[in-house]
Amino acid sequence: MRKEDEIINVTRSDMPPMEEFISEISSLWDTRWLTNMGEKHIRLESEIKDYLKVDNVTLFSHGHAALELLLQAMDLKGEVITTPFSFASTTHAIVRNGLTPVFCDIKEDDYTIDETKIEKLITSKTSAILPVHVYGQICNVEAIEQIAKKHNLKVIYDAAHTFGEEIDGIGVGNYGDASMFSFHATKVFHTIEGGAITSKSRELKDKLYYLKNFGIQDVDSVPDVGANAKMNEFQAAMGLCNLRYLDEKIAKRKQIYERYISRLESIDGIKLLRYREGIKPNYAYFPIVVDPEVFGKTRDDIFDRLKKENIICRKYFYPLISDYECYRDRFSHGDTPVADKISSRVLTLPIYAELPLDVVDEVCELIKGLK
Ligand SMILES: *Cc1c(COP(=O)(O)O)cnc(C)c1O
Repeated sequence: MRKEDEIINVTRSDMPPMEEFISEISSLWDTRWLTNMGEKHIRLESEIKDYLKVDNVTLFSHGHAALELLLQAMDLKGEVITTPFSFASTTHAIVRNGLTPVFCDIKEDDYTIDETKIEKLITSKTSAILPVHVYGQICNVEAIEQIAKKHNLKVIYDAAHTFGEEIDGIGVGNYGDASMFSFHATKVFHTIEGGAITSKSRELKDKLYYLKNFGIQDVDSVPDVGANAKMNEFQAAMGLCNLRYLDEKIAKRKQIYERYISRLESIDGIKLLRYREGIKPNYAYFPIVVDPEVFGKTRDDIFDRLKKENIICRKYFYPLISDYECYRDRFSHGDTPVADKISSRVLTLPIYAELPLDVVDEVCELIKGLK
């Protein structure tokens, strides 16, 4: 049995070498410029713009704050079509902007929004579509763009899981009107807490820049009711350090992904995540979907068995957002049979750069042993 201090969690935050971080922050003791778009903030914004291959980046204190302010900046009204198969943040950002979420189902094979079911949810009140690139799987961006064009809707991607991903060499942050990335400590790239918005619109970037600073455009002009969502210099310093190691970390995640695939692909009743063609993945998560009729045991059985060995997985995303207490009596649950099913069957297994391959093997053996 693994000892208490050897617990394997579903993820583990990457840390740069300590000396490197200390060296990166040491100048702050001289400058005393700790937040409000300092030197490190400026440098990180520019490095992320290059890394993501996008035109404009705005940094934020949190991904969620970025999403809330983005919806405000776009001045949306009425209803926003999204999926309930996501983290709380996606729908919360909609509701906290006074908008109504309309839940669309997801696809059985890749867990992203089912683009064939979007159009019948569009009403005269719909102003935007907010799909999620879930687990690092990229939505059918081409089909979504066509629907949005036809109905004159905005498209905003929750790209929290897809930092650095590309489709056929195009950075994922180029799709739709804007995308939100999260730099939370548990994400593939992190700034402890943090996030960013990418978009093609310079105008949107400028607006977000002052919305994250109380709406203060300049010292004597406050055109909008903003918030405080500025990334500070310590966060930016962590980002500058982590970005240097990111490709290396993603390469290690890839090895873990491939090891899981090779050990689990022959098990009947366990479905694995396969990225759509043309994607350069970041291997953010490793979800398995358990068919209890075929596998003979449930998702919860696997969760409990691994937990006994101090291997802590996540039932990510369970419950569905539309089933949360704060929403189930307030908004229509929607007709989402696929999301309901996947949510009750999905389990994300541990994956992070430093996860030893023999632990991956152990996880796979424990799962096989249940059959
Ligand atoms: C992490 C996450 C967010 C929120 O990002 P924070 O940086 O933690 O505020 C939003 N959406 C999804 C899908 C996420 O996984």
